[in-house]
Amino acid sequence: MSQVFNFSAGPAVLPKEVLQQAASEMLDWHGSGMSVMEMSHRGPEFISIYKQAEADLRELLQVPANYKILFMQGGGLGQNAIIPMNLAGRKPQSATIDFVHTGTWSGKSIKEAHRYANVNVAASSEAQRFTMVPPQESWKLSKDAAYLHICTNETIDGVEYNFVPEVQGDTPLVADMSSHILSRVVDVSRYGMIFAGAQKNIGPAGLTLVIVREDLLGHALSICPSAFHWNTVAEHESMFNTPPTYAIYIAGLVFAWLKRNGGVAAMEQRNIEKSRLLYQTLDIDDFYQNRVAKECRSRMNVPFFLRDQTLNEKFLAGAKARGLLQLKGHKSVGGMRASIYNAMPIEGVQALVDYLNEFAGR
Ligand SMILES: *Cc1c(COP(=O)(O)O)cnc(C)c1O
Repeated sequence: MSQVFNFSAGPAVLPKEVLQQAASEMLDWHGSGMSVMEMSHRGPEFISIYKQAEADLRELLQVPANYKILFMQGGGLGQNAIIPMNLAGRKPQSATIDFVHTGTWSGKSIKEAHRYANVNVAASSEAQRFTMVPPQESWKLSKDAAYLHICTNETIDGVEYNFVPEVQGDTPLVADMSSHILSRVVDVSRYGMIFAGAQKNIGPAGLTLVIVREDLLGHALSICPSAFHWNTVAEHESMFNTPPTYAIYIAGLVFAWLKRNGGVAAMEQRNIEKSRLLYQTLDIDDFYQNRVAKECRSRMNVPFFLRDQTLNEKFLAGAKARGLLQLKGHKSVGGMRASIYNAMPIEGVQALVDYLNEFAGR
């Protein structure tokens, strides 16, 4: 098959080197005679894979020692229920959860949280059709919230935070980083809890990453299932039940790839360059349009529209013929979307830019 570039929002492109290594180790991992998929999660082989993945992630994100890293299942949407079940108990008398509504994913988190606590939407950009992050001065935070939940990169709307919000008192900041974790330097100590579905910027679907400060572990509601109780998961080093072993193995290969390529800071520089190249091309004239406020444009997910929407099918067919895949926008938004995660090489963005110019007749 000839060279293709995959712009899917998720499950998404993985580094070619990682896939090649996984292929070469598929039938016999390091002389064990077993595939990683066939190993006991409690055996020495898999434990070594797990420990290395955890250590590498801790190093890449400089996760402080008082934070646990959990390898869970249930996806980002699973955490929408798991988080309130674990944290609403911080405020036993009528807990309130603060949210900032910046797009589809924070909207889904808000909807789910209603089942477990009072919800205060402290700020929303719905009136702006989710094209910006409301400035922090406008947020109406509760005095005594169980936590504040934000989505730092709205995958569908293409909106990314360029600041870390201030919280009230000791309110923990909870962040859905599913679609931009490891794409930019993050000060983990500013957050109480960070979560991410793996299938955007880490590895295969099925693995959900949780990074949580230790003092937040003991507040779960009694209805919280044991397998989703952070404290239980942490006490068993993510092996209370069988973790998604193969997905952890691939994530570990991705972490090692990131380290070989200069780590998160180097990735961030590349992502700045890649996204700048793409937005510059979209901004040349109004043949293409990205409606997000410039300072909130996502470096990972770039939604755009053709001025003449009747050309959409022709645009997508031409892209596919050039090996530029999965550019169709999310069904709720329409138009196009190019996801340019860590594993998307600059050559892929350049090929897309060349096609955008050609299609616009430039
Ligand atoms: C994809 C995504 C999710 C949903 O993840 P699932 O694994 O499908 O539950 C949640 N939040 C964000 C920001 C996402 O991009």
